[in-house]
Amino acid sequence: MTVLEFRGVHRTHGGGEATVHALRGVSLSVRPGELVAVMGPSGSGKSTLLNLAGGLDLPTDGEVLVEGAALESLSHRRLAEVRRRTIGYVFQDFNLLPSLTAVENVALPLELDGWSIRESRRAALASLGDVGLAELARRFPDEMSGGQQQRVAIARALVGERRLVLADEPTGALDSQTGEMVLRVLRDRVDAGAAGLLVTHEARHAGWADRVIFLRDGSLIDTSGPLGTAADLLEPTS
Ligand code: ADP
Ligand code: MG
Repeated sequence: MTVLEFRGVHRTHGGGEATVHALRGVSLSVRPGELVAVMGPSGSGKSTLLNLAGGLDLPTDGEVLVEGAALESLSHRRLAEVRRRTIGYVFQDFNLLPSLTAVENVALPLELDGWSIRESRRAALASLGDVGLAELARRFPDEMSGGQQQRVAIARALVGERRLVLADEPTGALDSQTGEMVLRVLRDRVDAGAAGLLVTHEARHAGWADRVIFLRDGSLIDTSGPLGTAADLLEPTS
């Protein structure tokens, strides 16, 4: 069973002469237990790919399926449910609510999904523990460093057994030791049966993935060709 599938996905912005092709016919599938790293230069479509996988954006053409359901065909309500229950999304900026403590931020998606406050707090504390932040559960975001806030965002994305985990350069604000810890948590979740997509421009981070895919100008690069082609694309990007 495939958790995430892209079938000939195009995403364009604007029209006429000014049309931007953010993705040009991408097909891809990610299975349970598989972590796929997404690499490519700035502007190649990595965030677009993740936003489509997370149901935050819809394709101009083609289909995105999560656990067999085409996101485009879902009602607004059902899509919101899939995004709360099935998909965990770590954004480039943290998107924490400033008026909630760390544990409240992490518990929020579960509470919205009808869990009791007690159960959602318990799961949120466990998830904060996974990223080494159990001690800071009662702090507000502005009482934490950027790296700590990012770990809270990751705890929130992973709480409650999400089966599809999406992370867009999740280690950006972190020192290398904390970054490794975050990747380890992501890897553990995938090993426990989730499917994962990790956007990164660091080859060292892609080393945590089972497979690496490369985007250039909105297209997936065929890496089945001679060795070296893929390595050539690993030049530093912004
Ligand atoms: P990456 O994450 O690899 O840097 P993006 O997916 O953010 O790339 O962007 C891919 C391309 O699509 C870029 O050329 C970007 O400028 C364009 N793009 C993304 N979002 C929009 C938008 N909302 N309107 C117009 N162009 C966009
Ligand atoms: Mg991006």
